[in-house]
Amino acid sequence: MVAAYSQLLQKRFGGQLGPTGDQYIGFTIQGAMRMESLLAALRTYTQLSMSGQEPVEDVDTGAVLDKALSSLQVAIDESRASITRTALPSIRMYEFQLEQLFQNLIGNAIRYRSEEAPRISVAAVRNGEKWQFSVQDNGIGIEPQFQEQIFGIFKRLHSKTEYPGTGMGLAICQRIVERVGGRIWVESQPGKGSTFYFTVPCRNGR
Ligand code: ADP
Repeated sequence: MVAAYSQLLQKRFGGQLGPTGDQYIGFTIQGAMRMESLLAALRTYTQLSMSGQEPVEDVDTGAVLDKALSSLQVAIDESRASITRTALPSIRMYEFQLEQLFQNLIGNAIRYRSEEAPRISVAAVRNGEKWQFSVQDNGIGIEPQFQEQIFGIFKRLHSKTEYPGTGMGLAICQRIVERVGGRIWVESQPGKGSTFYFTVPCRNGR
């Protein structure tokens, strides 16, 4: 309602309220839209904490990665990002949650890029009873003192004008991974890049 009526106000009365009035309406619209995306992220986050059924089918992580990449196609083209990958396994997980995980991690690898075009590698290695996935980038990196905090809800290291975002992406990733009994963490060198790792248990020794 707030967004819709401020947009109507802009459409009907834009230009009649003077430049300051137009600017205030602009801020109201931006604020309402931001609130909408924060609420959407918060809703996703809380839904993940509700108890649900365990997934019963295996998903092909390579195919899910392809889906995530197609949602990010515009950002990939604009940033001239290159994405490489190793062979990826089948795991037992909800497909849309895995897609969201890849989308958040790769979306961040593109958004927090350095001067260079993003080079992103996705890999999976078997480590005992777990698959360990990694998403590596050559972006701006993260200072050691923030490497745990960034998984907290609404935690951001930059202003929204510097880099847009809600601060919910990694909190959602953490919930998704923890729901299947895995772990997520980052290793990073500021100015060189970051590697996000997450683990997912192998089911039935597969
Ligand atoms: P958002 O990106 O919406 O701010 P996230 O929860 O996805 O929220 O990320 C939290 C913070 O972690 C970001 O604001 C950013 O400072 C940092 N971050 C996340 N991914 C990366 C990355 N690949 N490289 C550098 N910094 C990152």
